[in-house]
Amino acid sequence: MKDLSPARHRPVDAMKSPRFTGIGTFMRLPHLRDLTGVDAAVVGIPFDTGVTYRVGGRFGPAAVREASRLLRPYHPEHGIEIFDQLSVVDFGDLAVVPGNIQASYAATVEGMGPILDAGAVPLAIGGDHGITLGELRAVAARYGPVGLIDFDSHTDTWEDYWGERYTHGTWCKRAIEEGLIDVGRAVQIGIRGGLYGPQDRAGASSLGLRLIPTEELLRRGVDDVLPEVRERIGGGPVFLTFDIDFIDPAFAPGTGTPEVGGPSTRDALRLVRGLRGLDFKGFDLVEVIPTYDHGEVTSLVAGTLIHEFLALLALLHRDG
Ligand code: MN
Ligand code: MN
Repeated sequence: MKDLSPARHRPVDAMKSPRFTGIGTFMRLPHLRDLTGVDAAVVGIPFDTGVTYRVGGRFGPAAVREASRLLRPYHPEHGIEIFDQLSVVDFGDLAVVPGNIQASYAATVEGMGPILDAGAVPLAIGGDHGITLGELRAVAARYGPVGLIDFDSHTDTWEDYWGERYTHGTWCKRAIEEGLIDVGRAVQIGIRGGLYGPQDRAGASSLGLRLIPTEELLRRGVDDVLPEVRERIGGGPVFLTFDIDFIDPAFAPGTGTPEVGGPSTRDALRLVRGLRGLDFKGFDLVEVIPTYDHGEVTSLVAGTLIHEFLALLALLHRDG
């Protein structure tokens, strides 16, 4: 009798074919748009003209995919074989329009539709942080306002830049205004760097966001901050957005608006691992600009973080 259960999708086995061979999808997953039975889909959103400083995030998805060849399927700290739990594909890139952020938002909402409607969790690779607004529109249309865990050295809650209200520095304010975020369940971790004035942080706090600046994170430590984050997010749907500039540019130089004095890659991994059990409905990893990278270090950090996100989803599947 023919097996009618949908095919499970997993990376090419690197013990059978070396990791440097084949086409560069994320972790060498199959590039598929048929989402039957798929639990999670990696998707590129290479839009980068929402930036206020360096461009080049359009090349982020390709660079992160290339670096992700190195990643392995078993996660020893969590004790889980990710692809025994999840069927995962690389969906490819969405049809963004360079220089036109509104058209790119429309393409993002449309492109994310089939992924979300299939019940798969999207893991997006940016692109600049402006893309997150489009993703949140798509996610909130299905789940209502979501909790937000935002790793970033910037609050991205400015009103506008040069009169432009839709940029990588304003997406979070717009998302709150549009009712996409449940602000009582939102937290920004890693805020640091010079500002235009005290009103910048005060403005973010007055929107209802809980800010955990880098200074506070490093003083209290990961183990002290995690329970607070978990309690604030609680049991509802949550979106995790990770701006790579959360991490110190010594570890992740390939980005657009770097801020020195930040947490290490190790701190970031421990924070993300501590989020197991939360009800994630989407993830993104943004602001990787390969042009400013060295030795693929930033791309590898980014790919490794997406691997950590997949591990969180695998744990959800296994343990509920
Ligand atoms: Mn950002
Ligand atoms: Mn940032």
